[in-house]
Amino acid sequence: MQGLIVENISNLYKIKVQNKTYEANARGKFKKEEITPVVGDKVEIQILDEENKKAVIEKIEPRTTYIKRPKMSNITQLILVVSSKNPKPDLLLLDKQLAFAEYLGIKPIIVLNKTDLDKKKEFEKIKEIYQNIGYTVIETIAKEQENNLSGIQELKKQLKNNVNAFSGNSGVGKSTLINAIFKDTITQEGEISQRNKKGKNTTTSTKLYEIDENTYIADTPGFSTFDISEIEYKELDKYFKEFKPLVVNCEFVGCTHIKEENCGIKNALQQGKIDSSRYDRFCKIYEELKEKDKYKY
Ligand code: GDP
Ligand code: ZN
Repeated sequence: MQGLIVENISNLYKIKVQNKTYEANARGKFKKEEITPVVGDKVEIQILDEENKKAVIEKIEPRTTYIKRPKMSNITQLILVVSSKNPKPDLLLLDKQLAFAEYLGIKPIIVLNKTDLDKKKEFEKIKEIYQNIGYTVIETIAKEQENNLSGIQELKKQLKNNVNAFSGNSGVGKSTLINAIFKDTITQEGEISQRNKKGKNTTTSTKLYEIDENTYIADTPGFSTFDISEIEYKELDKYFKEFKPLVVNCEFVGCTHIKEENCGIKNALQQGKIDSSRYDRFCKIYEELKEKDKYKY
């Protein structure tokens, strides 16, 4: 029987099979193969006790994506939440997370939250920069009661048929957004309405919540941002989406796009084809990754 791991507490797994949930351990053979099941894994299980919903994991299906910390597999979409005000937008972090999403092969979506606090609409500029690159940007007011202006409906549409994980600094409104999404959902199962009641800070393990069939949100405790240090600094240009196709124009193989002459990226920058703040943040992230690389081994 095929199921989905929706929760993991030490070596116990909760596995969803249609509308039933089984508790299972993994077969010993996984340890020998040095693979541990993680939340998000599609698994083959054998039922041991139908009445008490006990099972054992027999096989882990190949993963399409894998995140090391927190351990999650088969995430298809990363929701990168940025606050317009309070706290002010952290675009350096956003660019790091975008690069990481590209590196992992997971589609990123940018959510600009708390637009109600940004009276001068400074977020419009941010929206433009990232839309020009080709990213989807959604404006939200998570605190707003359900209405057409909150952006929650649009976000929900984006989440559909994906396994979604939220990322962003503490205080940007991730919990408020997730709760608004669930509030807005007609619940069929206790599982979802439970999340509403419990609110934040009560999850002790990574968990997948089902919004509807084929749509999930990963909830991870104490997790706000991903550690991107596994990206090789020399490869960072591959993960800056608008830089990647321009690298062929660089005169030097292995061009860092920082000091070299006849650089495709710098030329595009001069022609206004690349946003200069994006370029500045590229240089900053490059230097940070390079510095970290010194201490890697
Ligand atoms: P998290 O740390 O990312 O989960 O952030 P929270 O969801 O806990 O939100 C942090 C604070 O911002 C809370 O006091 C929320 O009520 C508030 N907040 C969240 N979204 C909005 C919004 O769209 N507008 C305003 N004005 N406040 C918001
Ligand atoms: Zn270059």
